[in-house]
Amino acid sequence: DVPVITIDGPTASGKGTLASRVAAALGYHYLDSGALYRSAALAALHAHADLADEDAVAAVAAQLPLRFDPPRILLAGEDITERIRHEEIGLAASRISAYPAVRRALHALQLSFRRAPGLVADGRDMGTVVFPDAALKVFLTAPAATRAERRHKQLISQGFSANIDHLRQDLESRDERDRNRATAPLKPAEDARSLDNSALSIEASVQQVLAWWQA
Ligand code: C5P
Repeated sequence: DVPVITIDGPTASGKGTLASRVAAALGYHYLDSGALYRSAALAALHAHADLADEDAVAAVAAQLPLRFDPPRILLAGEDITERIRHEEIGLAASRISAYPAVRRALHALQLSFRRAPGLVADGRDMGTVVFPDAALKVFLTAPAATRAERRHKQLISQGFSANIDHLRQDLESRDERDRNRATAPLKPAEDARSLDNSALSIEASVQQVLAWWQA
């Protein structure tokens, strides 16, 4: 069986960086499941679907013409790698990800990333719903203030402007929606190891996950 490591946690907890570094260290594939929800949100906006209409959005999500050419993501041939990082798309992704029909529509696509020699998957429900049999599950925690600072730095470095207080409010409301939704709420799997990375360097976090993996 192809081994899976899941890394779940709230918005801007550093999941993506950690998961992609661990994947690179092990020579494994990497799934950024948030990018799929973001791509679905962008595709729904392109299709002028009403984001309040679960069935309409799910229909778009079920037929996503996505191509992965790591680290690029193409939607119907268009490179959307940067576009889906915009806060407005993150917010739309957060809204549509509360729909069970959208989650179902993206389920098989997520499973298809599980290929030899292994997969590191990050998101909100990787360990609880999508890969419940994962060999190692990590749940990241870090205070909202720390996460807002990180997201701020990240956006600035990508050339976007951002207000740190707005970012913090935005990520807290997004986390709240993720935690309180009925389907696949954000929570640690029962067998997840929790990692507070607020005082750890990226390298130290990577080493911790690799140490758990090799144990
Ligand atoms: O992780 P990222 O911020 O890119 O994800 C965008 C949104 O997609 C999140 O705010 C969350 O609501 C949703 N999401 C999810 N389940 C996942 C990954 C992301 O509901 N596995």
